[in-house]
This record gives sequence, structure tokens and C-alpha cells, in this order.
Amino acid sequence: MLVDAERLHIAVQKSGRLSDLSRGLLTDAGLRIANGKNALAARIENFPADLMFVRDDDIPTFVADGACEFGIVGQNVLYEFALDEGEERCEVVAALGFGHCTLKLAAPEGAQWHGAESLAGQRIATSYPNIVDAWLAERGIDAEAVKMNGAVELAPRLGIAPFICDLVSTGATLEANGLRAVDTVLDSEAVLIRTRKPVTGPKQEQAERLWKRLQGVIGTRDAKYIMLNAPSTALPAITRLLPGAEAPTILPLHGRPGHFAVHAVCQESVFWETLHDLKAAGASAILVLPIEKMML
Ligand code: ATP
Ligand code: MG
Repeated sequence: MLVDAERLHIAVQKSGRLSDLSRGLLTDAGLRIANGKNALAARIENFPADLMFVRDDDIPTFVADGACEFGIVGQNVLYEFALDEGEERCEVVAALGFGHCTLKLAAPEGAQWHGAESLAGQRIATSYPNIVDAWLAERGIDAEAVKMNGAVELAPRLGIAPFICDLVSTGATLEANGLRAVDTVLDSEAVLIRTRKPVTGPKQEQAERLWKRLQGVIGTRDAKYIMLNAPSTALPAITRLLPGAEAPTILPLHGRPGHFAVHAVCQESVFWETLHDLKAAGASAILVLPIEKMML
């Protein structure tokens, strides 16, 4: 497929934990991705942009260099890159609420652990040596991060390093390798990044349009539209209870003096708990509606 210089480029992971979720976000934003899952690139049929399918480790570089205007990548990968290359090279524009994982320090089951000082003079196997070095430096601990590109859990068994620092979601892999998590180095999730290289010509406007569209979905994934009725005396308490709602609309109810309808976009999840609290504060006829699209 020929890459058109007039089209935007979005870097997403080719195949891995973030691939489907990244595509999902783009499809939710109304972008139609042309078929051909194994290709290195795919055209977006209804927007002047192409997806580039790459290794997640390459995403910050492509975006920093301006080869891709946007990218979706884990904070863990981005920070590792930023510590080498400077964090000003990509702009993080949104946290995406998926791809959650934790970079943890782990030690062999029987090993002594008295806190981070136990690492002094030791070796730590990891795919994230820059992040580990920064974490050690912050604590004034002198230890050596040994870079491994995969199978980090094997390092203690192979005698490469007694400690490891690796991504964990359930801890099952650690356990299976006779290791236990002893400290957390970083909590991570996927983020949307944007190039800081100037985008010129027609692409500039397209980039803004794309960002607005994505913002609409990112902002609305948890957002709900709440409608309720309340007496005027209850309005201050009720507006305080609405999660993440700015400036609700308050309208007089026809034929019920002193009673109002409150409409609000809640940017945060609305739980049953909140509804009970609203009711207790005097609200009635509470409706919670999904929001399909939003443009701010
Ligand atoms: P690639 O071939 O693209 O380099 P990879 O093997 O480095 O793939 P994956 O294992 O697919 O990467 O993970 C991609 C990202 O998913 C991680 O960098 C991290 O941000 C996130 N992630 C979420 N949960 C986990 C987990 N349990 N283990 C590892 N990564 C996770
Ligand atoms: Mg990778």
C-alpha cells in the first residue's frame, strides 16, 4: 500500500495486548479501518489517515520524529523512551483507561527483603532499565539494572540477577517462576500521544479534527447524562453530588412551583450509590442515560 503524504499516520501496536483495544477506540470514534489485519498499514476509509502497525517499543520514536502524528502506547514504554530521549518529544494528550498493568520489583520466594535497601549492590533484570535506574536514583540506592528483552522471570534461575522488575497484571507468571512481588515501580495504562513536530498543510486541520473526534469518545466512555427533578431547597446538595458535572442545566418544572429539572453531563462513572444519595438529598424521577457522542 502506498503511503500518502497528505494523510495522517496513527501508530498502534501490531499484535499484542494493546492492538484490539487501540483499534476499538478508533472504531468507536467512527473511523472505518480497511480490512487486512496482517498488513503493516491499513487505510481508514472515511478519514484521511492511515494506521501503522508496529512494535509497541517503536511507537514513541515514530511519534517523536513526526513520522506518525498520533500513537497509542503504554506509559511504561513511553517513560522508558522519555528517560533516554527527553519527555518533551511527545505530548501525552489522554489517558485511555485500558492496558492497565504494574511494573513491579520481584524477588525469589525465600530471599530476604527489608525494603528497597535490600537492592543495594544487587543486579535487577528488566526490560525497563531507564525506569528502574530512575527509581533507584530517587531512593539513593546503588544497584545495577540489567536489560533483558523478554523472559525476565527466568533471570534469577539463570543466575543473571537475583531480582527482576517486570510488568505484572495478576502475578501468576511471577508465582509460576518462584518469585514474589516486593515493591511497585510504576502503575501504567495506555495513553494517546501526539507529535510535537509541527504538522503543516492540510494535515494540520485534519489532525485537529481527529483529536476532537477522539476526545469525544475518550471523554464519553464513562460519561452519563443525568436528568432528575428536585425542589429548589435540595438543589445545592444535589449539584454537589453529581460526579464530575460542571454547570448543570436547571429548568423550572411547569405547573410545580418551587420544583426544577436538573440536567447534567457527568464525566465520571455514576454508581447506584450516587443515585441513592441523590434520592436521599431530595431528587426524584432520576434518569441516567448513555452518551453516544460529544464534541466539546
Ligand atoms: P511488541 O511485539 O509490540 O513489542 P510486547 O510483547 O512488547 O509487544 P505486549 O505484551 O503486547 O507487548 O504488551 C503491550 C503493552 O500492554 C505493555 O507495554 C503494557 O503497557 C500493556 N500491558 C497490560 N497488561 C500487561 C501485562 N499483564 N503484561 C505486560 N504488559 C501489559
Ligand atoms: Mg514491546
